[in-house]
Amino acid sequence: MDTTALEKAVLGEIWSAPTAYRNLVELCDRFGPRFAGTDGYRGAAQWVRDRLIDYGMIDVHLEPFEHLAWERGPAAVQAIQPYSANIPGLTLPLSARGVVEAELLDLRGTAPEDYGKEPAGVQGKVALVSNRNPPGYQRGVHRKERYLRAVQAGAAGFLFEGSGPGQQLATGSVTNGEEGQIPAVSISAESADMLGRWLDKGTVQVRVSVDGKAPRKVVGHNVVGEVHGGASDGPLVILCGHLDSHDIACGANDNASGSICVLEAVRALSAVRPELPARVRAVLFGGEELGLLGSTHYVKEHAASLDRVRMVLNADVAGTAGRFSISLQDWPELVDLMRDELRTIEWEGQVGTAFTPHSDHFPFVMAGLPAAMIGSAGWPGVLGAVHNASDTPDKVSALRLQATAAALARLAIRVGCSEAWPAERRAPEEVAERLVALGLEPELRLENRWLF
Ligand SMILES: [Zn+2]
Repeated sequence: MDTTALEKAVLGEIWSAPTAYRNLVELCDRFGPRFAGTDGYRGAAQWVRDRLIDYGMIDVHLEPFEHLAWERGPAAVQAIQPYSANIPGLTLPLSARGVVEAELLDLRGTAPEDYGKEPAGVQGKVALVSNRNPPGYQRGVHRKERYLRAVQAGAAGFLFEGSGPGQQLATGSVTNGEEGQIPAVSISAESADMLGRWLDKGTVQVRVSVDGKAPRKVVGHNVVGEVHGGASDGPLVILCGHLDSHDIACGANDNASGSICVLEAVRALSAVRPELPARVRAVLFGGEELGLLGSTHYVKEHAASLDRVRMVLNADVAGTAGRFSISLQDWPELVDLMRDELRTIEWEGQVGTAFTPHSDHFPFVMAGLPAAMIGSAGWPGVLGAVHNASDTPDKVSALRLQATAAALARLAIRVGCSEAWPAERRAPEEVAERLVALGLEPELRLENRWLF
């Protein structure tokens, strides 16, 4: 099917309107942080629903799900020995509450598998852990795995150096949707270096305290809407992203950018609705930052109709000035097709098969569905403005938002209309085998996410 004329109309709609960046700024300024369980998130979800209705999408609605809401309380990190000092700290969401006074152990140069094997042993101590890998260690290791391995090794507390220099305090949950077992606080790279210098000379004693309310049950929402030109039972393409952010910034990059790209793509697709041969569903998830809660619920709730889903395109951190990237989640059979799509417009993007179990495409991948994460790689001129207080609209490129929205819209048409679609849904055994081959089974088991 030749979709050239349709694509031109859709891309023209995106490139000739200022909607994407204006919507991003409105979402960020009007609701502030969209942390799961807060009024900020609820307001944002209703605002997105209203936009989908304005754009003429059909079956627009909110899908509720129950989850634990976490609320930030004060954190304190004090050095007691060899010097007395107050160290700025930020509680990591879903940390345990309480006070720990213990010796500090530097695990920044230790592989996560070896946290318990350290000659001195982390048992009963506070673990000082970095988001960076020790030299020569190749595997990507998520913060949650580091935390859970420290817990498993018997650590009494968790100090996390989560960002680069600049006295930034990183945030990020330490479990998937439940309260953790030991206090977890992030400190700056500079503070971690200082503690490291002291540790080189001898024993360091610290006191870590995390205060706050117990997490409480709330109802969160995914926002859903659909657009098609009449084929209501054809193959479905899902464009998605997480609408929630962390609580310390409005999450302009993570993930107002991805949400707005989805919104802009479906706005343009709706403008050509009568001629649209593909069936496209927009889903904006809640609770991603607390452990993929909305997408996990969605996949469970829609299990009976997932066979109709042809592909899931998940936009997460998609508006930085860096390179456009498509990470096919271990779907090598789709690489050529995606590369061809980009080649036809000489797009300077990167297509790979990189895999991450830490964004909303993952529950779909677990269900055997073809999926890709759409993002922008690299941070030219921006010091990692994700998961810290600097994640504000000035770090998002208006041009990149339009470009990513255009790519999403175009891919939705091409994937939806493909007459020789090369990626069949995988059976659970095959999914399990591939995750094992990728070396992900231990991490997923540790996080209680191994479904096989
Ligand atoms: Zn994100």
